[in-house]
Amino acid sequence: MARITIGESTFSCQADESVLETLLKENIQIPFGCRQGVCQACLMRSLDNPPPESAQIGIKHTLQAQNYFLACVCHPEQDMTVALPNQQDAFIQAEVIKKQLLTPDIVHLVLKYQTSFNFFAGQFVNLQRLDGLTRSYSIANIPHQKNILEFHIRRLPNGQFSNWVHDELELGAQLTLSTAQGACHYLPGRAAQPLILIGTGSGLAPLYGIITDALNQGHAGPIHLFHGSRDLNGLYFIEELRDLAAKTDNFHYTTCLSGESIDSDHIQGRANDVALDSLESLGGWRVFLCGHPDMVNQTKKMVFMKGASMADIYADAFHVLQIEN
Ligand SMILES: Cc1cc2nc3c(=O)[nH]c(=O)nc-3n(C[C@H](O)[C@H](O)[C@H](O)COP(=O)(O)OP(=O)(O)OC[C@H]3O[C@@H](n4cnc5c(N)ncnc54)[C@H](O)[C@@H]3O)c2cc1C
Repeated sequence: MARITIGESTFSCQADESVLETLLKENIQIPFGCRQGVCQACLMRSLDNPPPESAQIGIKHTLQAQNYFLACVCHPEQDMTVALPNQQDAFIQAEVIKKQLLTPDIVHLVLKYQTSFNFFAGQFVNLQRLDGLTRSYSIANIPHQKNILEFHIRRLPNGQFSNWVHDELELGAQLTLSTAQGACHYLPGRAAQPLILIGTGSGLAPLYGIITDALNQGHAGPIHLFHGSRDLNGLYFIEELRDLAAKTDNFHYTTCLSGESIDSDHIQGRANDVALDSLESLGGWRVFLCGHPDMVNQTKKMVFMKGASMADIYADAFHVLQIEN
């Protein structure tokens, strides 16, 4: 059993508990999201002893060196004095400048920031509202002069953050956002390599950013996008992407609907099945998978079985909060 000190208080962290579980049990308000070490919403810093390495996986090297760790997967091996990240280290403010429905379920949210902010299209940030409620959303645009960040946010039934964004968040409001995180983005080089991108629903957000980035950087190899949903409420940017495919020789775009009644404009089936059925082998391909966690996790295995190298598979599963029974 290790002891966790935060501020003036010290708590016992049982062997089977994470730092996050210990602090929440003691009613300490810590932002958190996926509880699986993915979203990084529960980023904290150890002020004395180094955290276990396993609690630092996926964190930027610069933050690892400063003893940052993910509280949800941190099972301390020794006593730790911990703190939330300094606001100036990891968070900036941004203003809502546009909010527009893309489908009845998905809203296009555009934020403008004033301070310097580095990101790659396809990375994600943690958005935080005033009361501390925090969720991860992927960046759908490439960095440019206008200091904006675009997001596609799907309303989940009874979802706290997504319903608040859809129904209450107003133009001009301020949101707090973390540094950009994650490795699901385009890297220049290997410009002739074929790319395949598979996404469901608002999983198009990071893929849209990645495609824009790849084309902007002169990617010459074929780029195949498969966007799927159960019904039309999950598909958007259809005309825009069809136009792009019509005028860009190496960009290919397929929409898939897995529900029962679909029109002939779309392929019937799940995007991952349709995509993988259409290709013999993925040896040498770069793969991007985003959206529903089941789809992402299943497809990771399937693309590996089809020959893609693990080093060439980039994925962001849109894990939602873990509900405890
Ligand atoms: C890396 C990453 C990137 C992401 N990018 C995007 C993105 O670009 N776009 C996007 O739309 N989403 C994205 N997500 C998902 C997003 O972070 C949120 O999880 C999602 O918006 C739901 O948040 P919420 O607060 O609305 O729902 P929550 O309040 O967290 O609820 C989630 C679900 O659980 C159910 N639920 C809540 N409480 C209970 C309860 N007590 N009992 C039973 N069920 C319950 C809700 O009904 C809801 O369906 C991403 C996630 C990750 C990890």
